[in-house]
Amino acid sequence: MSSYKVVIVGGGLAGLTAALHLSKYGIESLLIEKEKYPRHKVCGEYVSNEVLPYLSSLGVDPFLFGAKKMEHFELSAVTGDSCKAVLPLGGFSVSRYTLDAKMYELLKEQEIAIIHDTVTDINFNGENFQIELKDNPSVGAEFVLGAYGKRSSLDSKLKRSFIRSHAPYLAVKAHYRGEYPDNVVGLHNFYGGYCGVSKIENEALNICYIVSYKEFKKYRNIEEFQEKVLFKNISLKSILQNSQMLFDKPLAISQISFESKSLIKDHVIMCGDSAGMIHPLCGNGMSMAILSARMIANLLLEYFNMPSMTRNDLEKKYRIQWKKAFSSRLRTGRFLSRLFEYKRLSLLLINYLKSYPAVIEQIIKRTHGKPVESI
Ligand SMILES: Cc1cc2nc3c(=O)[nH]c(=O)nc-3n(C[C@H](O)[C@H](O)[C@H](O)COP(=O)(O)OP(=O)(O)OC[C@H]3O[C@@H](n4cnc5c(N)ncnc54)[C@H](O)[C@@H]3O)c2cc1C
Repeated sequence: MSSYKVVIVGGGLAGLTAALHLSKYGIESLLIEKEKYPRHKVCGEYVSNEVLPYLSSLGVDPFLFGAKKMEHFELSAVTGDSCKAVLPLGGFSVSRYTLDAKMYELLKEQEIAIIHDTVTDINFNGENFQIELKDNPSVGAEFVLGAYGKRSSLDSKLKRSFIRSHAPYLAVKAHYRGEYPDNVVGLHNFYGGYCGVSKIENEALNICYIVSYKEFKKYRNIEEFQEKVLFKNISLKSILQNSQMLFDKPLAISQISFESKSLIKDHVIMCGDSAGMIHPLCGNGMSMAILSARMIANLLLEYFNMPSMTRNDLEKKYRIQWKKAFSSRLRTGRFLSRLFEYKRLSLLLINYLKSYPAVIEQIIKRTHGKPVESI
């Protein structure tokens, strides 16, 4: 059985980041991803600038592959009434199709071990892990990072408690050819959900929404839902009616929830959405995925360089650092998403924010951190 110091399960942004970071320091790692690159993912595709310097230190410059710089934020209520603000830190928009694939190419250039397969089970014997794969022989590891996203059959295998709770949301996304300012990220409310809009590379427009399944199931299909619900927001109606879809059909995913999760389960250390998912309303899940991967990669480096550090010390430090960095963002995200569920309240709020855009900037600051300089 081949064995590695670190096996990373899942090659989304968290897994790719951890692999790139560890490889910079010569830590023998293996990345296991079940899908092939490139591929589209249901995502708003807006990334906060807090990760830009760090990505650059890993050799990733999103502007080299066409990312659009985001400087303004537009928020509209279910009616289409809207307010605007400056994004305090700024951000960029680029498709996951391109971003994940470019990071993967970088890994390949650096000859990092990658297997395309599904991890079916992970077992810890008190010292090491044995990782079972669907189509390949098992592999061994001293550490396993769980970077397999918001929900996977592995969560059931590992008996993580959140998997038994109701997952009430679904999400839909497609790329379009359409008009929208190049430097504005829009968040448009509709009854039962929110829709993110931003330009990405190649002048395409990403339109991605999340909605409660309870509301969605009242309609026969995506088209009917969009016409009867999204179109009540006149801003969204105009954007959608004046755009031509570039996909054959929209991508849709279901079973999304924002439940708290165990950060470490049977010594598998979770990062990215596997550790906890912030509401997309905050537009910050990708930054959290990247930053949590950076956090655990740095702790692993500390562990490998410090013989006196135990597995328990590492796990304890990760819990403390993760909570300090992300707990308050997650709470704010849950609070905001509940607030916007009340139609009248959200209208009142948006009318208030129109007069006080500085308050929007304060809210954004509560869900975003400061730029992280480098590795
Ligand atoms: C509707 C919606 C809109 C969003 N909009 C934004 C936004 O605008 N900005 C933002 O910052 N965030 C946004 N997010 C959140 C963001 O998409 C996630 O936080 C981010 O993708 C998390 O990255 P990750 O690496 O943890 O997981 P993922 O990107 O989901 O990657 C997990 C990977 O693990 C692989 N995998 C799963 N199981 C296995 C297995 N058993 N074996 C091997 N591989 C496996 C999967 O194939 C996948 O590639 C949005 C999310 C949703 C749902």
